Amino acid sequence: MIRKNVIIGKINDSEPSIRFNLNLNCTKCGKKVPGGMRTSEKYFGSHSFKLEVDNFKKNYLCGICRDKKRVNDKIQK
Ligand SMILES: [Zn+2]
Repeated sequence: MIRKNVIIGKINDSEPSIRFNLNLNCTKCGKKVPGGMRTSEKYFGSHSFKLEVDNFKKNYLCGICRDKKRVNDKIQK
């Protein structure tokens, strides 16, 4: 499975971007997943950048849990 880098904030085409890795834990099963992320050079390390990363981590689900959630959502409808 090919995983794309998750983009934090907005990157304009003309802006240089930075790639970085986050150690993510699935909020449901606790599985550790290395996260390939991307952001703009300007945004990296800023206050709102940190908030967004925090938020992303808090809501992170691994691929398996995300699939399960999708299935459950379908059943409930
Ligand atoms: Zn999980």
